Amino acid sequence: MKEYDVVVAGAGTGGSTTAYTIAKKGLSVLIIDRKEREMIGYKTCGDALGSHHFRELKELVGIPDFPRDIVEYDVHGIDIIAPDRENRLRMTGPTTTGWSFNRHKMGQWLIEQAEKAGAEVWASTHVKRLLFEDGKVSGVRVNQDGIDIDIKAKIVVDATGATGMLRRQLPDNSPVERVVAKEDMMVAWRDVYETPEYTFETPEFLEIYWDQEQTLGGYTWVFPQGHNRVNVGLGMMILPGHPKPQDIFNSFVRTTFDFMKTKLVTLDSSGGVAPVRRPIDTLVDDNFMLVGDSGAQVNPIHGGGIGSSMLGGAHAGITAVEAIESDDTSIHGLWPYNPRYMESYGIKQAALHVFRWFLLNVTTDEINFAFRKGIVKADDLLDTSMTGKVKFGTGEKLRRLVSGVGNIHLLKRVAKVASLMEDIKEVYRNYPPSPDGLAEWKNQLVPIYETAKKL
Ligand SMILES: Cc1cc2nc3c(=O)[nH]c(=O)nc-3n(C[C@H](O)[C@H](O)[C@H](O)COP(=O)(O)OP(=O)(O)OC[C@H]3O[C@@H](n4cnc5c(N)ncnc54)[C@H](O)[C@@H]3O)c2cc1C
Repeated sequence: MKEYDVVVAGAGTGGSTTAYTIAKKGLSVLIIDRKEREMIGYKTCGDALGSHHFRELKELVGIPDFPRDIVEYDVHGIDIIAPDRENRLRMTGPTTTGWSFNRHKMGQWLIEQAEKAGAEVWASTHVKRLLFEDGKVSGVRVNQDGIDIDIKAKIVVDATGATGMLRRQLPDNSPVERVVAKEDMMVAWRDVYETPEYTFETPEFLEIYWDQEQTLGGYTWVFPQGHNRVNVGLGMMILPGHPKPQDIFNSFVRTTFDFMKTKLVTLDSSGGVAPVRRPIDTLVDDNFMLVGDSGAQVNPIHGGGIGSSMLGGAHAGITAVEAIESDDTSIHGLWPYNPRYMESYGIKQAALHVFRWFLLNVTTDEINFAFRKGIVKADDLLDTSMTGKVKFGTGEKLRRLVSGVGNIHLLKRVAKVASLMEDIKEVYRNYPPSPDGLAEWKNQLVPIYETAKKL
């Protein structure tokens, strides 16, 4: 039987970064993907990324600079547009600067980095199931060209994306949640077009359209990739009986935007899903780690997960190397990955997960009102999405708003959600130092989310 230090299932952004980090330290790592080698990186995506992620990753694990030849256009900021289209907020600054880029080429570049660092890549190979020895993960069974192959590994990393297909195979007594609730998943549809008859005047600004009726729990994005090219799509919560995202795309997006009524050359058209919640509460079990979408390492508000999956991959890789070097790949040996990820990104996700529940209960009228009255400023929104902190719901600022603006009920709810977000952050600041404290820690999360759902 083939044996490796680490087997990574899934060569997306999360898995490739994990393999890169581990291979760089000289350990043996095999990364497997069901896609053909030249299709690795192809994925339904908005194709947008903040450059700050790459600065962090360079510092953490030495990821090389984002290659210029995969950038379609440099992004200088994001416009958020109110449902009535009468008001927009422009968010600019270091955290909204980045790129719209070619996602497929990026995936190819990233897997090349892992390979160059020493990782072995098996493409066109399906990971079928986890293997166990004495009740603990010991490897994976894969299928290549119709033949099953068993591979042994000290650590198996599930980086299979939103399906988390290995996570779901963990035994009943695993502390890892195997299933992500439907209410915590976003479904999406997006097309990429050339627009020969339509010119995007300011492709350096991405646009996000907010509309609770069409895209509850999500939004429509118009991300130009140059003056005559665009990635346009929408994401929303899965609701029983609600139309599918592709149907809303056809009925709403096609009839709403001027460029959609001009000649379009379709370059791509497809749907996707992403988890939009806090990270899975423990990202490790004995000999097992979760990275990227399979660990729900996605921003719950905007659904961006490329940067955070890479951050997860870097922390997982660093921890896996330490665990193998100290000959302890048990849940205890791998545990440091949890606080590392939670501190660097998970805490913000957790707060934004609370905020997401609040947003789901806000009406279109209330959003229009908040934009019109200037209750929300661009800096506030940016702050919230970057830090998980609602500054406009607290202290002096709120008092000023309450005295100057009508809708007291909305303002009170904003204040309440701001306080719940602080509560959840406090819980995360006390993330348990070992698996023994996990159950008790989780008990503190539940009441906060339950309150947020009712706001
Ligand atoms: C519509 C949409 C738009 C998005 N837009 C953006 C955006 O603009 N910016 C952003 O930052 N994020 C965006 N995201 C989120 C982002 O794409 C993901 O969070 C990120 O790609 C997660 O990376 P990953 O490595 O975890 O998973 P993935 O990139 O999904 O990679 C998983 C890999 O595992 C492989 N795999 C799965 N099962 C098996 C198996 N059984 N055997 C072998 N291989 C397997 C797959 O082939 C795939 O290559 C978007 C998501 C969606 C759905």
